[in-house]
Amino acid sequence: MSMRPENNAIAAGPLARRPTRAASIRYGARQVTIGGAAPVVVQAMTNTDTADAIGTAIQVRDLARAGSELVRITVNTPEAAAAVPAIREQLDRMEVDVPLIGDFHYNGHKLLTDYPDCAQALSKYRINPGNVGQGAKRDTQFAQMIEIACRYDKPVRIGVNWGSLDQALLARIMDENAQRAQPWSVQTVMYEALITSAIENAQRAEEVGLGGDKIILSCKVSGVQDLIAVYRELARRCDYPLHLGLTEAGMGSKGIVASTAALSVLLQEGIGDTIRVSLTPEPGGDRTREIVVAQEILQTMGLRKFAPMVIACPGCGRTTSTVFQELADRIQTYLREQMPSWKKQYPGVEAMNVAVMGCIVNGPGESKHANIGISLPGTGESPAAPVFVDGEKTVTLRGEHIAEEFQAIVLDYVKTRYGKVASTI
Ligand code: SF4
Repeated sequence: MSMRPENNAIAAGPLARRPTRAASIRYGARQVTIGGAAPVVVQAMTNTDTADAIGTAIQVRDLARAGSELVRITVNTPEAAAAVPAIREQLDRMEVDVPLIGDFHYNGHKLLTDYPDCAQALSKYRINPGNVGQGAKRDTQFAQMIEIACRYDKPVRIGVNWGSLDQALLARIMDENAQRAQPWSVQTVMYEALITSAIENAQRAEEVGLGGDKIILSCKVSGVQDLIAVYRELARRCDYPLHLGLTEAGMGSKGIVASTAALSVLLQEGIGDTIRVSLTPEPGGDRTREIVVAQEILQTMGLRKFAPMVIACPGCGRTTSTVFQELADRIQTYLREQMPSWKKQYPGVEAMNVAVMGCIVNGPGESKHANIGISLPGTGESPAAPVFVDGEKTVTLRGEHIAEEFQAIVLDYVKTRYGKVASTI
């Protein structure tokens, strides 16, 4: 058996963030920085008809309240472009200052030209270089959008997507590949085309006059290994901030798992400055779920803190009742619901951990590691639930009202530990 040298400590945590330029996205007094030393930013996209200004403003508000630090809306028609200033005004009335990003395809040059109030109301533009136009028009229309970004001082994300890759560029790279003594695989050619599209268009935007600190890049694909390969290489070749996201991740657990797998590997390597989790909602499902997933990816990786985390055991044959599952769910929901007001009242509360455990095997141990923990009785154990606060057993709960009493203990702990008065003592 080989021994580890005493002074060779086991390393933990992600690799250092890849150094990038920093881009600022502003609305009023609100400023969100992407890249540089800024924390990884969470963003989301609406799925309402943008022409429906009220409906879109309500969904933007909900996404912002759930924690989306930037919200993207599609701007696809004259009616949508005309609605953008009204959406912004509606958000102002609701005191929501989240910066809005306009997503443009095919007709963005025309909409941004014809609707200057839309161009002004947006805080950032997303341009897909594969959907800017064909042939000679392509460069002119791309330049037209970049000129408008320069005129209104707006940053731009050059967002390449392999579902809409620039076909002329792909043909060029395939031709170059055919000249190689040992041609690359089709997959490598596709990777190269995605990366080249992002970088060449960023350079073109800089040539038109957009500052290098106003450009963010993305190269979205729908396969986990493809995304990791593409972003590793993109990160190696440029210092623009990168927007990460697995496009068309899918529904339910598949979408969550695929996004988490892909984003986690890249974030662990220090790659990625803003993320979006592109979940397909269930019909009538809650759009804010993608925000919760994005936040939980960052928080469970230790990159950011958004809300107290509940540590709960999975349960097993040692606990045959659903009491601890119900308590874990109740506390998780309670903590999330409190966060909008707790964030202001109790700074630092987002770092709190609460353990809800099913029996004596790991219950007391895990509860001691958390800020507050409760170890519920498993099958055949004495019907008592010891509560641990900062590692010390403080009380044992019994009877019908364990859930209410534990919630009250959590609230009391939050007030004492994170209350502003307490923190100044
Ligand atoms: S803590 Fe107890 S109930 Fe929970 S998984 Fe472990 S042994 Fe099972």
